[in-house]
Amino acid sequence: MKELLSRIIVGKDPVVESRIAHTRILLTGQVAMVGIFISLFYIIRNLILQLNVSYHYHAILLSLMILVVVLNRKGHHLAAKILFLTTTNFLIFLFSSTASYYTGSFIYFIPIFLAAFVLFGYEERTKAIFFFLLTLFLFILAHLIDLHLVPQVTLSTRKMFESFIVNFFTASFLTMLLINFLIRENYYYTKELIQNEEQLLEKNTQLIKINQELDQFVYSTSHDLRSPLSTILGLLQVMELEKEKENAGYYIDLIRNRIHALDHVIGEILDYAWNQKTGIQQDSINLHALLTEILTNFLQDEKTQKLSIEIEVPPTLEIISDRRRLKIILLNLLSNAIRYHKYDQSKPFIRVSSTIHQNQLEICVEDNGPGIHPDHQEKIFEMFYRASDKTTGSGLGLYIVKETTEKIGGTIHLRSEYGKGSSFIIQLPIVQ
Ligand code: ADP
Repeated sequence: MKELLSRIIVGKDPVVESRIAHTRILLTGQVAMVGIFISLFYIIRNLILQLNVSYHYHAILLSLMILVVVLNRKGHHLAAKILFLTTTNFLIFLFSSTASYYTGSFIYFIPIFLAAFVLFGYEERTKAIFFFLLTLFLFILAHLIDLHLVPQVTLSTRKMFESFIVNFFTASFLTMLLINFLIRENYYYTKELIQNEEQLLEKNTQLIKINQELDQFVYSTSHDLRSPLSTILGLLQVMELEKEKENAGYYIDLIRNRIHALDHVIGEILDYAWNQKTGIQQDSINLHALLTEILTNFLQDEKTQKLSIEIEVPPTLEIISDRRRLKIILLNLLSNAIRYHKYDQSKPFIRVSSTIHQNQLEICVEDNGPGIHPDHQEKIFEMFYRASDKTTGSGLGLYIVKETTEKIGGTIHLRSEYGKGSSFIIQLPIVQ
């Protein structure tokens, strides 16, 4: 019904600049239609009852209200509004002047007062004020000044009562339509305002977080970048002072280590920036193959060869996810498990396992290394957080892992028993 009414009033594909403009156009059509119904009602009633009253006012109202609907539908919205308000003002004036007070025609002045403001809105308030003054002027002319412009129509008490009832209900309905429009607009504006405020607050919290992270980022990265450089400079000075040329290899190794540390920090910063800026990819991934590819690089290291690395992932398991991001996540977790392992035990191991449950892939990277003390477990995913003074890393790795996991819609949590080992559990939504 609402759809049909809207189709009749505005047509199939209306081009309207805003929602409020659209509702105002609908409202113009609706009030004009009420005008059509009311004029039809009086014409039919007078015909049926064969009343000896003139039909031309109602016929004028009917044809002009049809014209308003047509103009409105054709996109001449301003003309439609002006025609509606002019016609209704003058006809209500004529009805109020010709008929007795008891028919209640004057009640229409109330919705017409309101209509001027509602149809034009605050943006076109001068036009609204003009019509408001016109209505006021006509009301005074019809009721306070006895002009006798038009001949009076005399109706029986019963007909007057019937007219009063019809006029009262129609005017009330029109008033209700107009007030409903105002209340609805107010409701939508308030809702929009609350939504905007909520969005603003959310953005503000994000900004505060980003700002704090940036402060910490500048401080920590400059420290992490400078510290290996200072060590390198120091080592170069010692090398210059060193008389024994064969010791040079030792210093070169130390310098190489520091350069690797520097390279690692820069790599992590690049991963972090890339994750923030780049959109998500949907790649087809063989998880087993990806793990093997990551581990190949580590296995070249002599220390890693002491570890038993178990991959408990079906070799046929293919998933759809962001390959580069998943690689960053697994590489960081495996690199930590290798770097922080307890090598002085009989069976050091790292185990990567996977399970699938209701479109969720769970990957567990487990080790029987030193574990993480309960005091650190809550903060371990924070930016630049290091759980021990002995670590050589930047404290960025797990922060990047968490950010990257969340970017692809996953979650990560830690289960660790201090002294016994750690398990990092990632849950990812996947399409198989
Ligand atoms: P880093 O660059 O220092 O390795 P991470 O964010 O990757 O930074 O790790 C934060 C801290 O968590 C590390 O300093 C380390 O103390 C601890 N950690 C991470 N993974 C493990 C693990 N598998 N076993 C024990 N400690 C770990």
